[in-house]
Amino acid sequence: MLTIDNLSVSYKGIRALRGVSIEVKKGEIFALIGPNGAGKSTLLNAASGIVPVAEGRIQLEGEVISGRPAHLIARAGLIQVPEGRRMIGPLTVMENLLLGRQAVGARGRNPKDLEQVHDLFPLLAERRDQLAGLLSGGQQQMLAIGRALMGRPRILLLDEPSLGLAPVIIREVFDALIRLNKEGLTILLVEQNARMALEAATRAAVIEQGRIVHQGPASELANDPVVADHYFGRAAKVA
Ligand code: ATP
Repeated sequence: MLTIDNLSVSYKGIRALRGVSIEVKKGEIFALIGPNGAGKSTLLNAASGIVPVAEGRIQLEGEVISGRPAHLIARAGLIQVPEGRRMIGPLTVMENLLLGRQAVGARGRNPKDLEQVHDLFPLLAERRDQLAGLLSGGQQQMLAIGRALMGRPRILLLDEPSLGLAPVIIREVFDALIRLNKEGLTILLVEQNARMALEAATRAAVIEQGRIVHQGPASELANDPVVADHYFGRAAKVA
């Protein structure tokens, strides 16, 4: 579904990613875990066309998307929920959702999408006229996911959806992602909460200093003592 092949990205000459290759298969949740500054957001932003690719190639269902502008990549069906949700605070919940539909042009013209988003997150229907800026962090995360779904993604990319949320809200967000995946949505999930991410994922990779250092079935990585040692400390306290 999404093939990232030998990807390198630099910021003003400083390498943030070095020869990264991963493949997200149709229908799976693929988790990318790793410490602060490892390059996780850079990988998502390169796939979304927000940061330029220095070397390598990114393909969505066999079509090369690297080098295309971000809005065309979104229209091709690769949609990202950015870190920090990025709501438009002075707009209502409904207006934010509709922006997700507009952003992808003709792809987003199915009225059923709104019903499905409201079914997944009923509070977005209850609070449709409330300003997005007044929502709690967890509610904003749900709105950010809902807005992305309005663009009818073929693959959904999420950057640290658990960031700053209480454990019970993280559980709700992950349950929604697992439900979406069971309904057929392919997901690439970047997380520092390794335990939650590996529990939800089919396969996973660990990235450190811009390189993939482990890759395999999520259950295998979850049982790897080195991965557990490095990555379950903080998450273990959260879970
Ligand atoms: P975090 O969890 O903190 O978001 P991350 O794994 O997502 O970390 P990135 O944000 O991708 O990591 O950063 C990878 C490296 O690139 C870091 O060294 C970071 O300082 C650097 N970097 C990221 N964005 C920029 C930028 N716009 N300009 C310069 N350097 C950047």
